[in-house]
Amino acid sequence: MLQIKNLHASVEDKDILKGINLEIKAGEVHAIMGPNGAGKSTLSSIIAGNENYEVTEGEIFLDGEEISELAPEERAHKGVFLSFQYPVEIPGVSVTNFIKTAINEKRKANGEEEMPANEMLKKIREKSELLEMDRKFLSRSLNEGFSGGEKKRNEIFQMAMLEPKIAILDETDSGLDIDALRIVANGVNKLKNENNAVLVITHYQRLLDYIVPDFVHVLMDGKIVKTGGADLALELEEKGYDWIKQEQTA
Ligand code: ADP
Ligand code: MG
Ligand code: MG
Repeated sequence: MLQIKNLHASVEDKDILKGINLEIKAGEVHAIMGPNGAGKSTLSSIIAGNENYEVTEGEIFLDGEEISELAPEERAHKGVFLSFQYPVEIPGVSVTNFIKTAINEKRKANGEEEMPANEMLKKIREKSELLEMDRKFLSRSLNEGFSGGEKKRNEIFQMAMLEPKIAILDETDSGLDIDALRIVANGVNKLKNENNAVLVITHYQRLLDYIVPDFVHVLMDGKIVKTGGADLALELEEKGYDWIKQEQTA
């Protein structure tokens, strides 16, 4: 589903990613962990196509297609979803209307007709019930006065509706409270299937108590320095990152 080969990237002439190799197959959940400043958010931004970063070497394939030259919207239309891609507040545009527009733009970009209104309503109902969302929430203005948990809920709802091939959830270092953790985890667990893949980027081992990854990668100083199973997250929680640094230099 997603394959990254020898990815190097810089921002303002500073090298941040120094040769990332990663392959995520359909049906898999991968987690990337690592100390602050390792390059986790940079990696997620680059996969989504953020133009503030310069890819200096390497390739990114989505479903076999090289996407590293595509604009962020094009990648989104092809099935890349990054959390917090749409964090803007839009007074007067409801959660529902925003997602209707996003879905129809995606369909148009893929040469499909707009989704018929009744099908759209059905899908909104299904997904919002699956995620146990309050009906009133759907008519609120996008992100306006949303709490942290509500932002997460909206994000997971967008993901449920857009049905991306690869969902990248960058759970930035700033506080995810327990409610938000559960919302994200429940959403991911309910939405993952054999036709999509999930990349969870997190500083918190705790999130991985709820979302059990197939693979855990440790990103340090712009490189993946270790890969393991779900146990690796527990080991990191217990021992921190220093032992990996020592393994590296040994
Ligand atoms: P992480 O998400 O692992 O904490 P980041 O990807 O946010 O790490 O950052 C990696 C490094 O790149 C840090 O040293 C950070 O200061 C730097 N960096 C990231 N984005 C920018 C930017 N837009 N301008 C300058 N430096 C940046
Ligand atoms: Mg950080
Ligand atoms: Mg980060």
